[in-house]
Amino acid sequence: MVLFEGRPLPRPKLCGGGLTPKAQRLVPREALDVVERRVDRVEIRTPHLGSFRIEVPGATIAMVERRRFDHALVAAAARAGADVRDATPVTDIVERPDGVTVRTATGRYEADCVVIADGEPSRLSRAVGLGSPANRLALALEIDVPPSPLAAPDTSVLSFGLRGGYGWYFPKNDHASLGVGSYRHSQHRRLRNDLVHLGRDLGLEVDARRVRGHWIPMGLRVGSVASERIVSAGDAAATADALFGEGIAYALLSGVVAAQAISDWSVGAMPSLRGYDGRLRRALGPPLGRLGLIAAATEVSTSAALLAVRLSGAVRERAVDAIGGWSAPFDIDRHCEVACACDLHEDEPASASIANAHQRADRRHCAGCTMACAA
Ligand SMILES: Cc1cc2nc3c(=O)[nH]c(=O)nc-3n(C[C@H](O)[C@H](O)[C@H](O)COP(=O)(O)OP(=O)(O)OC[C@H]3O[C@@H](n4cnc5c(N)ncnc54)[C@H](O)[C@@H]3O)c2cc1C
Repeated sequence: MVLFEGRPLPRPKLCGGGLTPKAQRLVPREALDVVERRVDRVEIRTPHLGSFRIEVPGATIAMVERRRFDHALVAAAARAGADVRDATPVTDIVERPDGVTVRTATGRYEADCVVIADGEPSRLSRAVGLGSPANRLALALEIDVPPSPLAAPDTSVLSFGLRGGYGWYFPKNDHASLGVGSYRHSQHRRLRNDLVHLGRDLGLEVDARRVRGHWIPMGLRVGSVASERIVSAGDAAATADALFGEGIAYALLSGVVAAQAISDWSVGAMPSLRGYDGRLRRALGPPLGRLGLIAAATEVSTSAALLAVRLSGAVRERAVDAIGGWSAPFDIDRHCEVACACDLHEDEPASASIANAHQRADRRHCAGCTMACAA
């Protein structure tokens, strides 16, 4: 397998770098070595209810710097056998009935199939006819700032004053990610100002000229993300959720679904990769749909939604479940359908390692090795 990355590695990626438990469970263990801080306290700020803190031990967020985290993921892929070519943008993909040709500035490669994961805007998906619009498109602005003198180091801040979005402060080791985002076009003009104000509320002077922005495509694409021999995954397939703008866990899961589809197709259990589109929608559609509905309800009354989070243990439990991913499609057992023999369980045959991992208190390893196999 050849993995093409357009930029030299390690490369920066504009992102808050918040990894939910469901994302943590889907990555190989070494990628978690770069976690800078684990945060299970959230301060929620609202215009009408003031601010309040909640503790969410079932939804501990691991804070990473994407440059280092993504590099660790690529290293894990290389360790699993991928031939990594960085600084090598793919310039063209041509699908034929008997294979796919991939072109870069320096070479031409023949493949049985291709996974497009070039982020947003996915130029490669568009070029092969798989780049229909996302159901929702958010704009998010972000800047690295020094740690806030007014926020506890183990607490992230979520600020709700925008329609269709929120602001965040995610503490890392020696700095923090400060950002705002919304899927409402009407809010996009005010995002920069909101970011500066959020910084000020946290005792930070934000240099507005250093702020950068990028789109987050959400809720899947309206058209198919698969052809006979090509599938798209991650932002290229618009897999982020509309409530939090969380993209990493869903991108990883789409990679798992793609790997399973390719594996089934390669042994003749699936006639073409077109079936990936339905599988992806069945896996991600329900949770993304639920979070989209909650986003819409939150827009109708942000105060009511946040009051429910503050006062109702049951609502908080549901929120922790959505963030933690303790049920389908992020539950462990489903993904263990893919047999795995990674070196986390070196001495055991694949089936035994999966069974044992199920019995472990630390269930992360099992999904982690599923992902390593997918890579
Ligand atoms: C400001 C901001 C904050 C965010 N914060 C969070 C957060 O805290 N938590 C979270 O879960 N999600 C967050 N997200 C969403 C998350 O960043 C994305 O959903 C996620 O990175 C998608 O991963 P991906 O691999 O699909 O795409 P990307 O991470 O964008 O990776 C695509 C890769 O493809 C490469 N590429 C592009 N074109 C080519 C080509 N032609 N040839 C070869 N390589 C190419 C790019 O260089 C890049 O390395 C945030 C997004 C934004 C914009």
